[in-house]
Amino acid sequence: MEKELVRLSKCSMAFDGDVVLENIDLCVKDKEFLTLLGPSGCGKTTTLRIIGGFLKPDSGDVYFDGVRINDVPPHKRMVNTIFQKYALFTHLNVFENVAFGLRVQKHEGKKLDKYEISSRVIKMLEVVSLKGFEKRDVSLLSGGQQQRVAIARALVNHPKVLLLDEPLGALDMRLRKDMQNELKQIQQATGITFIYVTHDQEEALAMSDTVIVMEGGAIQQIGTPEDIYNEPKNAFVADFIGESNIVDGVMLSDGVVEIFGRKFKCLDSGFEHKEPVDVVIRPEDVDIVSPDKGKLIGTVTSVTFRGVLYDIIVDFHGFKWLIQTTDLCPVGKEIGIKIDPDGIHIMKKSRFSGMYGDYSSYSAEYDDISDAEYEYETEDEEEH
Ligand code: ATP
Repeated sequence: MEKELVRLSKCSMAFDGDVVLENIDLCVKDKEFLTLLGPSGCGKTTTLRIIGGFLKPDSGDVYFDGVRINDVPPHKRMVNTIFQKYALFTHLNVFENVAFGLRVQKHEGKKLDKYEISSRVIKMLEVVSLKGFEKRDVSLLSGGQQQRVAIARALVNHPKVLLLDEPLGALDMRLRKDMQNELKQIQQATGITFIYVTHDQEEALAMSDTVIVMEGGAIQQIGTPEDIYNEPKNAFVADFIGESNIVDGVMLSDGVVEIFGRKFKCLDSGFEHKEPVDVVIRPEDVDIVSPDKGKLIGTVTSVTFRGVLYDIIVDFHGFKWLIQTTDLCPVGKEIGIKIDPDGIHIMKKSRFSGMYGDYSSYSAEYDDISDAEYEYETEDEEEH
């Protein structure tokens, strides 16, 4: 999967004077499942349309297999697209929907013969688990089955790259999850490069080899799902990917950060002495202990049962954290918390600092509960 297949270099795009993409640099490797992830309007679809050839960037270059393709029209790119509304031909059955692209295709000036068309369609229907559905009327299929017909139709031409723009958006949650697994399996079985657009972070983490997080027409981070979750670059990424408590901290030395006046061990290094930083603590990384053993002491202000875990909101000095725990901690209880060094992630301050990571709005009705109080540690005091 190391060979580069698609590259965007310094691509920018504006509509009516509004910049919607700014200096996008990205690379997609052969056979990769790459996802463009970000909130509505961040420029994901515009990026996809530039790769597909439906839009030309105002500046910058698009390369396919090392060749600049800015001026190559969509039908001459080895790329196919599946949109959210997959627009099947309702007057044709399943077989004919999938065969459509092959019937208009020519190989060395000649149309494909019907045996080749038939064998390719049948093979593709097998890949998408629709063997035996050939004669079915597409309008009578379920949403998931229609989606599979759209996938078969897009893949039967053997594109090098498949572009998928929120293809599961119209499906209900259960079917969406099943289709996520199927799409991943189809991608691995066919070895076709997938470039997938979604605003659903769970979907992106579950399916992708590489995730590109976008915001405001710019790329915020590129990495594996694990990198993006465990090592977010800034408060925007930390907040967008999963739940995060994001608090102000001060780096005291390599591996030691001060939060709310207390010193915590962490695994991060390379910051200036006393550099202000953003600290990410995931809700599942906080251990609840008795107040006398806690590094910080807070008061539970709300409890929500989530099945396996409780989501509890805990007030520390007026800053509210989300903690996930299997222990029942009733509202009003004072608790202590500890965090292992690998549960703390340090980020440089950015333009997103202070904008995310406080769960106050979760429990506004409990605002009158008094804040927990602690004594501040001095810098040379021993940690406990
Ligand atoms: P969504 O998840 O809502 O589809 P997105 O991240 O895919 O969002 P884009 O569709 O790429 O975002 O749109 C980025 C911005 O560009 C938006 O503000 C959108 O309104 C604007 N935009 C996109 N296409 C056009 C167009 N043809 N003319 C004018 N503005 C456009």
